[in-house]
Amino acid sequence: MASRTTTHLCILLISGFSAALCAQQPPARGNFTPHASAAHGARLIALTFDDGPKPYVLMGTRSGMGVPSASLLDLLDREQVKATFFVMGWRLSKNADQMCRKLDGGVCREAAEEEHRRGHEIENHTYGHGDFRLMEKRYGGAWILNDIDRASRMIQGITGVKPAYLRPPDWDIWPALQKKIEARGYRVMTKSHAAQPALRDVDSEDYFCVGHDLSKCPKPSDYDYVLRTIVQRERHGVYDHILAFHELPQTVEMLSRLIPELKKRGYRFVLLRAYMAEVQSYP
Ligand SMILES: [Zn+2]
Repeated sequence: MASRTTTHLCILLISGFSAALCAQQPPARGNFTPHASAAHGARLIALTFDDGPKPYVLMGTRSGMGVPSASLLDLLDREQVKATFFVMGWRLSKNADQMCRKLDGGVCREAAEEEHRRGHEIENHTYGHGDFRLMEKRYGGAWILNDIDRASRMIQGITGVKPAYLRPPDWDIWPALQKKIEARGYRVMTKSHAAQPALRDVDSEDYFCVGHDLSKCPKPSDYDYVLRTIVQRERHGVYDHILAFHELPQTVEMLSRLIPELKKRGYRFVLLRAYMAEVQSYP
């Protein structure tokens, strides 16, 4: 299989934190194990979104650069779907207001408050979105744990609830660090094939479908790619999926077609905490 490396998120991130920090990661491969959901007949999807909050995508305005977007929150309301947002903590700080207004068409923290008000979950995607390997080399492991806790404090200030899930930037993690993060009370989201398929993130690769270089954007479309991936998982008896998207205008457009299609195929959309509880209750 041709290598499909993820060079990706750097180009999407407007913070000075991450521009040079994006890790390469090998592509996901087959290697499925049987799963009990087929026997249960449940078809669950946890929709998740990384790298926000981005007001223009959530509220359907224009970015500071003039990029238009339909409102993701309005779409979710119309479809009566609740989702889980893995946000970057720095965006919730008052210091980010000016940059958010300039680049993302509004105050990021207010967009997060709106997510919470409309019944969505907010979880932890670290404070600065720094590459863990680079951060550890540069500042040490304690710095990473502090960065995660710092994001949690910002999130808890909005939701009143401590995040329970941590998705590492670019999914880059190793066992020793994972254990330390788990010891602090987080479950670490993963694409690793060590996890059973239903508990493994499905990478939508939507980040390949923005910007000038679309050469890695799945063909014929990302919509088709996500559906294809789900069908492939179904063939292996997996009917529960954690779908990982990003807050991007293209993703909102894709989901306006994908959500109705998945509903037609019998899927029920639930928050990540409910998803985990249900999937892990299978015998
Ligand atoms: Zn990210």
